[in-house]
This record gives sequence, C-alpha cells and structure tokens, in this order.
Amino acid sequence: MKIKRRKFLRNSVVTGTGMLGYHNLSAKSRLLEQPVPHPIVMATWDNSPAVDTAWKVIAAGGNALDAVEAGARVPEKDPLDKSVGYGGLPDESGVVTLDACIMDHQGNAGSVTFLQHIMHPISVARKVMEETPHVMLSGQGALDFALEQGFRKEKLLTEDSKKAWEAWSKQKKPFGETNFENHDTIGILAIDKQGNIAGACTTSGMAYKKHGRVGDSPIIGAGMYVDNEVGGACATGVGEYVMKTLGSFLIVELMRQGASPQQACEEAIERIVTRHPRRFKDFQVGYLAINKQGQKGAYGTEKGFEYTLSQNGSLRLNPADYFLKK
Ligand code: ASP
Repeated sequence: MKIKRRKFLRNSVVTGTGMLGYHNLSAKSRLLEQPVPHPIVMATWDNSPAVDTAWKVIAAGGNALDAVEAGARVPEKDPLDKSVGYGGLPDESGVVTLDACIMDHQGNAGSVTFLQHIMHPISVARKVMEETPHVMLSGQGALDFALEQGFRKEKLLTEDSKKAWEAWSKQKKPFGETNFENHDTIGILAIDKQGNIAGACTTSGMAYKKHGRVGDSPIIGAGMYVDNEVGGACATGVGEYVMKTLGSFLIVELMRQGASPQQACEEAIERIVTRHPRRFKDFQVGYLAINKQGQKGAYGTEKGFEYTLSQNGSLRLNPADYFLKK
C-alpha cells in the first residue's frame, strides 16, 4: 500500500494532476503545521558540535554560508570522525582522499574532489566558488590551488585509521562487502536571520573505496543543492545511488512543485528503491531537506539514519523515518 501511495505521488508530479496533488497536500500541511520561525541549522547524523557551531554563527547575526562552512569544519578537523577530513578512513590503497561542496543563497557553488593532504576541503570548495570562475577542482589541481590559497599540506591518515585499513586489507574481502556501512558524511543546511539558505557537504567518502573514486558528496545536485527561492537538500550514504538519481536536486525541484520537504525526501528515496528493487535493502541512503518556510524533511532507505537539528535555541538529535520498516 505504501509503495502504491508513493507511486501516486511520483506519477502525480509528472502529470498535471500530480502537480495538483502536491499543491493540495502542501496546502493541507500548511494548515496543519504552524509556520516555523527562522533560522534553522540541520545536519546529517549525530553532528551536534557542528550544528552548534553553525547555530552560533547565525545567532550572532552571521550568514548561512559562513555558518555551514564553520559547521562542516568541525568534523573535518576531528581525528575521531572516521568519515570526514582528518582521521577519515582511506581508500583501498591507504590514501585519504576528500570530497566537498558548498552553495550560497545566490546560486553560487564550489566543489573539490579527490583532494589529498588538506584538512578543510569545505574551505577549499568555498575558495573555488569565490576565487575562480569554476565550480569544481579535482585531485592534484585542487591541491595546487589549495596551496596557492594558503592552505597547509598535512598528514590526514591517523594511526587509528591506518590500523583499521591494515585490518581491512588483511581480510581481503571483495570491495563493497565491508564498506557500505561506513557512512557519516556531514551534509549541513542553514537558514539565517535574513531567511537566506546555504548548504555544505564534506566527506572522506566510502571507506576503502577504489583509488580515484568520487562519490555524490561534492557533486552539486547530488550530495547537496540549494535554491534560495525554494529550499535546500543534502545526502549521505552510498553515493553511487544518490548520483544516479541526482537526489538533492530532485528534492529541491519536488519542493518547487509544491511537495513538503518530507514528501520530497520520501519521493527521492523511492526513486532509488524503484530503480534498484533488489539491491536497496543492502545499503543506506539518507536525505535531509528544508524549505524556505523552515519546514524540514528527513528520510532514509533503512533504519538508523538520524539528523541533528538546531531551531529556536534547542539542539536535538532526531531519528529519521525510513522506507524499509520491518
Ligand atoms: N555519500 C558518501 C559517499 O558516497 C558516503 C557517506 O555518506 O558516508 O562518498
């Protein structure tokens, strides 16, 4: 029944009635839900220190872009966080490679992929956005650019992560069997006191990935997307599935057509489920979304996805609803 209802929602976006369907539901939810005051900060997983840091920027009158960058830098520099920045688990060759992207409320975007040796890829992504005519720099070029911009070259592989990689290498398990469960990418969305929206996403990617692999997180529209007129969305989990459906862009476009953030996240997860009906049970993808009115959405393929939210001065970790209800 559940799939059927969602199918209706999906089909309804494509057809004329569908748009009406969303507008009707959205009008209904507008009646049911109280208007939520700005600002808001929301991030994937248990990222309380990051969200708190971002919230403080906004509470002090700072803008959403500064807030999401400041928030994303928190797990990037945390050696205990095994899936972001310094301390992130390496790829199959034992090399830490980082991906990140950022968007501001004017539709500007910056991204770095396959970046090595730099602790704060999110700040390099911001420099790409602000200091170059480009959106994305990759690999050695991204590193050269970071060094030109004054970033320091650092050793990102911690002893703990090296040990974990050595243990993984000894198991000689085929790729994919051991690494799909490791995903704690931070995607962070914020609305500031002016009502402007920005987003950031940063990760060391899937643990023990193939050398050279780039996931969804630095891809504008996959790992994160913001349209200041509509809202923002971000993703975590197995990036290949997010990339193949351009999940964050999809969510924002669904919201543009009248879907609530929650409906849009569910629809984007269902897109993955229907494309991969036999495989989706084996992996997690989680989406977060906010709209211009400050409404929120969160949904995963399976149990376990959670998000950190700061709104009205209270910081909370919340479980997300999910497709695969047992
Ligand atoms: N989405 C990230 C990637 O595929 C992984 C994650 O969320 O942990 O690289």
